[in-house]
Formats: sequence, structure tokens, C-alpha cells
Amino acid sequence: MVSPRSMWPFSKSEGCDCASYPHLTLDRNAISKRIKQSKALKKRLQILNEDVELGISLFRCPLCGEVWQSGREWNFANEEYLFRVPAITAEEWQREHYQQPAAMMIYTAMMADYHLRPFTPSSDKCRAEGCEERASTLGVFCRRHQVEELQRLGQLPKPPSGKLFPPYYEGKEG
Ligand SMILES: [Zn+2]
Ligand SMILES: [Zn+2]
Repeated sequence: MVSPRSMWPFSKSEGCDCASYPHLTLDRNAISKRIKQSKALKKRLQILNEDVELGISLFRCPLCGEVWQSGREWNFANEEYLFRVPAITAEEWQREHYQQPAAMMIYTAMMADYHLRPFTPSSDKCRAEGCEERASTLGVFCRRHQVEELQRLGQLPKPPSGKLFPPYYEGKEG
């Protein structure tokens, strides 16, 4: 699971309003609000790189140097929103983008829901090769392999792709 650690950035104001946009909290309201703010914010940023296929970009503020990336999520009508990210070169970003907060939020919420479901082990072994865990009474896999199977079938989301960055961090699963 991914959780934000500290919510307020400490960059100084350099005549821009970057410092008034905190790191996104992983909740729907924060992301909806940021979608609305992003058009104006984007206008005064410089584009450093662009991923045409995903429709997202990397930006820098010409005044304070803060670096921003955009994201899109089908769950939010695929509208673009901007979030601050650590400094990165256009080439590095080309190789791997930063993880998108809305994707982290949706993944975390869906997995948390899934893990609330009871799991009753049966007397059978998990069917995944080499796995010594016991299968669920409702299926042929242990909990971990059931999750992998549902991800493969598209019934649970796959972990969001990209580089994780502060203040978001990898927590312990389960
Ligand atoms: Zn700025
Ligand atoms: Zn297993």
C-alpha cells in the first residue's frame, strides 16, 4: 500500500504560486480539486518532455524550478492533473515516469477492499507451482496467488507502474 508521508512542500515562493499546491493526498476530493487547478498551473510551466501515448508530460516552473508531472485516470474522466515530483532529467523521465497519485489511490483502495474479504484455508494445497500454502475453500489458490490470478484476469488492478517518490512510500502489504 502507498501512503503520503508529509503533505506540505517546503519550497520557497519565487514569484510563482507553486508552493500553494501541496503534494496530493490520496483521496478523491484532492485529486478532483487538482484537476480543476491544473489548467491554470500548466499554462505557466515549461514542458520538459511528453509522453504522447499516455497523454502526460513533465514540466518545470521557470520561476522556482519546481518539477511537475501530469497524470490521467479513467476513473476521473481521464482529465489531466499535475503533481509535484523530484527533479529528473527529460531522458531519465523518458525511461521511467513517476507513479501517478490517482492510480496509487485507486490501487490501494481496491486492494484494501479485497483484503477485507474473509479467507478460509481449505485442506488442499495451493495450485500454483512450488507454493506450499493452503488454497482457499472458495478456489484453488492461496491468497497471494489468488490476487495474482485476479490481476492477470483484470479483475483486480495491477500495481501502478512507474517510479515511486517521496512523500509516497511503499508500505507493508496486508
Ligand atoms: Zn514555481
Ligand atoms: Zn500459493
